[in-house]
Amino acid sequence: MLQRWRGYVDDFLEQWFPTLCVRCGALGGSPCSVCTDQFVGAAPIPEIPPLKRVAALLRYDEISRPFIADLKYHGGWSVARRLAPALSFLLDDAIDAQHRDLVLTWAPTIPERARRRGFDQAEVLARELAHRSGQPVRRLLRRLPGEHQTGRNRSERAQGVHFTAVGPVPDVVVVLDDVVTTGSTLAAAATVLCEAGARSVFGLALAATPDWSQM
Ligand SMILES: [Zn+2]
Repeated sequence: MLQRWRGYVDDFLEQWFPTLCVRCGALGGSPCSVCTDQFVGAAPIPEIPPLKRVAALLRYDEISRPFIADLKYHGGWSVARRLAPALSFLLDDAIDAQHRDLVLTWAPTIPERARRRGFDQAEVLARELAHRSGQPVRRLLRRLPGEHQTGRNRSERAQGVHFTAVGPVPDVVVVLDDVVTTGSTLAAAATVLCEAGARSVFGLALAATPDWSQM
């Protein structure tokens, strides 16, 4: 019922306030079908302990960048909604096959930033994926105030991200993030979740930087 109602609301909004593609300006959603056709899939991501596996949907490049930026700085509901089905396939393919009892969560952004913007882009992504995949989603992490990640190298980043676990942590957790750059944010999240009792933690991102392993 809720799903049908939501479908009506989406149709209504699209009819009266059509979404423009943030990259090319075309009508009919963001990303539009022309831009979607140009996306390049992310390369396989090598192991990032203690994560069991990390998978990303898109290569972070000049095609995907405007959409990631829209998600990051403006909440990008259209981006999250339109890419959630593909992310759901990736979840099935990379993780869900062996783990039916998984819980989705997200690597929270810096609290002041989430407050200022009024949303957390990784949470937007996790909730949209939960809606699409039917998997449960729960807030399992809280980010402690710390340094911004942009422009820092891998070891600086590893020291700069601090999370604490929230509530009882399930056995199998999938942590969502917008972009995997060095993997340090996901690794920090997985470490805390494992210490709090998770048996298997997976990472899932909308995009991965192509040269992330060299950083
Ligand atoms: Zn477009």
